[in-house]
Amino acid sequence: MKYISTRGHAPDLSFEEAMLTGLASDGGLYVPETIPTLSMDEIASFAGQSYEDVAFRVMKPFIGETFTDAEFKEIIAKAYATFSHDARAPLVQLGPNHFLLELFHGPTLAFKDFAMQLIGQLFQAALERRGDRVTIVGATSGDTGSAAIEAFKGLHNVDVFILFPHGRVSDVQRRQMTTPTEANVHALAVEGDFDDCQAALKEMFADHEFRDGVKLAAVNSINWARVLAQVVYYFTSAVSLGAPHRKVSFTVPTGNFGDIFAGYIAKKMGLPIEELVIATNHNDILHRTMETGACTKQGVTPSISPSMDIQVSSNFERALFDVYDREGAAIAQLMDEFKAGEFKISQGAMDRLRDLFASGRASEDETSQAIAAFHARTTEVLCPHTAVAVKVAEAHLSDVPMISLATAHPAKFPAAVEAACGIHPELPERMGDLFGKDERFTVVPNDLATLKALVKERLA
Ligand SMILES: *Cc1c(COP(=O)(O)O)cnc(C)c1O
Repeated sequence: MKYISTRGHAPDLSFEEAMLTGLASDGGLYVPETIPTLSMDEIASFAGQSYEDVAFRVMKPFIGETFTDAEFKEIIAKAYATFSHDARAPLVQLGPNHFLLELFHGPTLAFKDFAMQLIGQLFQAALERRGDRVTIVGATSGDTGSAAIEAFKGLHNVDVFILFPHGRVSDVQRRQMTTPTEANVHALAVEGDFDDCQAALKEMFADHEFRDGVKLAAVNSINWARVLAQVVYYFTSAVSLGAPHRKVSFTVPTGNFGDIFAGYIAKKMGLPIEELVIATNHNDILHRTMETGACTKQGVTPSISPSMDIQVSSNFERALFDVYDREGAAIAQLMDEFKAGEFKISQGAMDRLRDLFASGRASEDETSQAIAAFHARTTEVLCPHTAVAVKVAEAHLSDVPMISLATAHPAKFPAAVEAACGIHPELPERMGDLFGKDERFTVVPNDLATLKALVKERLA
């Protein structure tokens, strides 16, 4: 299996190389050259199998010969052993024909654990074999950083540095990043906002001497291996509701288009999905693009679902690549226009996008009301991101079962949840001592030279 760049000018890579590289050298994103398909019989045979067994069968065609079957099975087993629920991604019923896919039973209580726990093990196995080590630097507004630290802590061949905006992440998120005691974990509180962290990260990657010197690697959501890991739960949940003999629909709370793109891959692999609904908060660039055909930056307004507060939806590029018949030059041009604030999608490409995806947006009020309403109707306490999905999904209910993705545990966002429904969501017992542990982090000025020097010093 070869991986190609969405902008057409980077070398083709193997799965392992694409995973360790992250971003393509032409600024594009890596995608598989072809999408393997599974037969109806194969999909039907997933019924009753463990999450790990389905994960192996869904992902194996994409990784080619990177690992032996035995190695890959062990990687998957280790990745999901850290989850607190045997089903890994259990489904609960919210209402007539409306289901909730709980993706928050991983160690940091958000769906990012599904991908991050897997790539932690994949990196470890690949680097061990190469006798190599890398330095992972990530920027986070909260969930990605905690998931990355949890996944990479204690691994021999990796140092992980996470830049987070000082004083601007929730207490739970910060403590998840600052309480691990492993020596290869470096939590850096930058005196700036998330955009400053992101900008510092990009400049580190742009500085080739620094990048090669410390062997920088990226695990942000454009890393193909992260998308791949997320394809699996579309299969397990659909099959448990009768697929492939019965169709299902999904509503996905999204910002960076990573999670819903994984659903699109599942559909291309042969999973009969009726509707894939994009759900955004008031930072609704994706919904506006679907409505108008113009992708226009408008700035970010903070919301109660902060992990979707984004205006550059990186993974959308992968969907555009397909609806533009995989013409890298066309995508490179659109992305160039976007630097100035806007690009317009051709009518043909828009028709195909609307065939593939529906969309909706939930305002802050609608999100809070959804938390309150579903708590009253079902006793289910939704996190604000999940509430965005559930609200948008309600406009798409039909005789096809609808699965809304629950991307985080409500206790990760206690203030918004309590304000909406009066319930203070408690952390699960296994996280219980989070607030009793010592914190360890370094406050750094928002200055690139200081950050780079600190990384080098820690590695020495
Ligand atoms: C990251 C995140 C999202 C959005 O994920 P995308 O990759 O942008 O689709 C939604 N909900 C939660 C809780 C998240 O952490």
